[in-house]
Amino acid sequence: MSSKKQRSWQAQVPEREELEVDVLIVGAGPAGLACAIELKRRFEQQGQGDKTVLVLEKAEEVGYHILSGAVMDPRGIAELFPDWKERGCPVESEVKFDCLEVLRGGGKHTRLTGALTPPTLANHGNFIISLYKVVRWLKEQAESAGCEVYPGFAGAEILFDGARVLGVQTRDAGIGKNCEPKGTFQPGMNIKAAVTVFAEGTRGSLAKHLIERNGLGKPDNPQSYGTGVKELWEIPAERGAALLGHVIHTAGAPIGLDGYGGGWIYGQKDNKLSIGFVIGLSHHDAKLDPHALFVHWKQHPFVASLLEGGKVLRYGAKTLPYGGYWSMPTLQGDGFCIVGDSAGFLNSARLKGVHLAIKSGMLAAEAIAGALHKGDSGSAALSRYTSSFEASWAKEELWKVRNFHQAFDAGLFAGMLDAGVQMISGGRGLVAHRKGHRDCETTRPVSESRLTKPQYDDTKSMDKLTDVYWSGAIHDEDQPSHLVVTDPAICVERCTREFGNPCQHFCPAAVYEWPAGHPAGGDKKAGPLINASNCVHCKTCDIADPYQVIEWIVPEGGGGPKYIDM
Ligand code: SF4
Repeated sequence: MSSKKQRSWQAQVPEREELEVDVLIVGAGPAGLACAIELKRRFEQQGQGDKTVLVLEKAEEVGYHILSGAVMDPRGIAELFPDWKERGCPVESEVKFDCLEVLRGGGKHTRLTGALTPPTLANHGNFIISLYKVVRWLKEQAESAGCEVYPGFAGAEILFDGARVLGVQTRDAGIGKNCEPKGTFQPGMNIKAAVTVFAEGTRGSLAKHLIERNGLGKPDNPQSYGTGVKELWEIPAERGAALLGHVIHTAGAPIGLDGYGGGWIYGQKDNKLSIGFVIGLSHHDAKLDPHALFVHWKQHPFVASLLEGGKVLRYGAKTLPYGGYWSMPTLQGDGFCIVGDSAGFLNSARLKGVHLAIKSGMLAAEAIAGALHKGDSGSAALSRYTSSFEASWAKEELWKVRNFHQAFDAGLFAGMLDAGVQMISGGRGLVAHRKGHRDCETTRPVSESRLTKPQYDDTKSMDKLTDVYWSGAIHDEDQPSHLVVTDPAICVERCTREFGNPCQHFCPAAVYEWPAGHPAGGDKKAGPLINASNCVHCKTCDIADPYQVIEWIVPEGGGGPKYIDM
């Protein structure tokens, strides 16, 4: 399939129901909901309170597909609602203590705190949150402002007129495994809007297609990603109380100098602990397995001691866009804007994106309301989104770390040296504009692999399948696989030999399998065994597959993980 054509499982339907709204927002995360709230506010101010704002969300319930650490810089939410605390925006705790633990071999660790904490990891004034809870609260605010929010509706295809976006076609329901409509078939509808906002989160499938099709990406700085693997734990009350408000980041083990990543431990209320490990997908090892690294990390005595006597409550995984300012696509065009993680609004040096996502949604809303006030939804009218961003604190923040992630391509020490120079040179560092590359181009032959799998158990070091259970992931099994291998012969003939089929390692939900003897007789049409119902929608496969023959396309609305409280 040409990358310019969007792949989907939509049926041929003579006529589809149509719905017209003024603004359609695809994705009910912090960026999409902030955009909706700000739009309604501005429409009211302009005397256009009857303008309609519709938010689509592919998860069964708003929040189910939301996963983050998370420590929130309050700057974004306080701009959206200056009285956010009085309104009851849920937080777990104000940050009371922060540090960086450098984990070493032999169970040793060194704590850097106070003045020794790297400035990007200083978190005083920030808040530990469950992004699930914050997003649920934002949905209530959006609805009371008069926005419509429809969970369970996935955007399957973008409706185009040339380069102009007209809206989105929602995913058909009731298409069987054989790609034929079943008795329960319900065709998706065409939702048309003056402006469509793509707020699907990291590597959104519609935003990815739009960026490719309309040439909105940065060829010298393609977006780069990390995969974060997270568990929510309940720990003994005494330790839980002691850790409330603690923000602990870790460096060192288990990756040492090999790769870009680290761990987090955030103390929440009710003795909950958010723990996770994130690894850059530019890692060169063909057996890179973010879940296995997470388990190795949990087995370090420092982390293990914090989990002792506790139990896991929830599991999940998600990619995050690391590329920063240089990797952001063109933010708007005829009839559309791209916001939040879909547009790369993330500060990878601070490991924070919620405040930037909210700000991007608000900036897009300002531009859209102004454009629609003049009855114009063209690219020039919407370009105020980009100009306002360029003049905003969000740009200022991202500009200061514009070369941060790319500097680590040269290795950990080179990256740390450059990061130090960036701090005193306003983000420039040793090179004015560092170029990037696609993560899928960095994998080295499997013969050079050095990564190992940990020993698993049923208490702290769960294997992937046990963790998938804790993600709540579920899909209707009688539907076409939403993980499509477009050229399985490459998997069988080349990938097995060159890279050892990395999909069986990098997927944090054990979706891809290459059991011994598979494929029988070397069948080139076989490709991997795909357990699509395990998928937690992290998008790692879509990004990291070295041949780019795996494509994530949207499944029926309502399927996927249930990240309650994550
Ligand atoms: Fe993530 Fe892909 Fe695995 Fe789904 S199949 S969990 S998107 S790596």
